[in-house]
Amino acid sequence: MDGREHYGFVVASSLLPLLGVVAAVALLWQRAVGPSDLVAFAVMYLVAGIGVSAGYHRLLAHRSFRTGRGVRIALAAAGAMAGQGPPLVWVAHHRRHHTPRAAPARPRAACSPRARSPGSLGCSPS
Ligand SMILES: [Zn+2]
Repeated sequence: MDGREHYGFVVASSLLPLLGVVAAVALLWQRAVGPSDLVAFAVMYLVAGIGVSAGYHRLLAHRSFRTGRGVRIALAAAGAMAGQGPPLVWVAHHRRHHTPRAAPARPRAACSPRARSPGSLGCSPS
């Protein structure tokens, strides 16, 4: 999977499930979907967002902080729940994204896959 394919995979895997959830909630409200389901969705959305933002991006790709093995595994698992591919592939493409020689046509402030992930806080310069 090259960078473009991975980008398409990340976009599709981020948007299609969300559209499916919206359709399911609208069609099945109070029959098969209730308020507790929305709470579970929100919690898992937050966990997956933290997994990508703190786990995949800050911990694994940039090594911004150190933590124990259990926390590393938990953050990587939470990131994997976001459906953005395995940690090694995500980290490799993200590091390439930050390499100026690898993507000369992209502007410096291009959004990372993390910026488009569930629960992310948007684009950042690092
Ligand atoms: Zn980054």
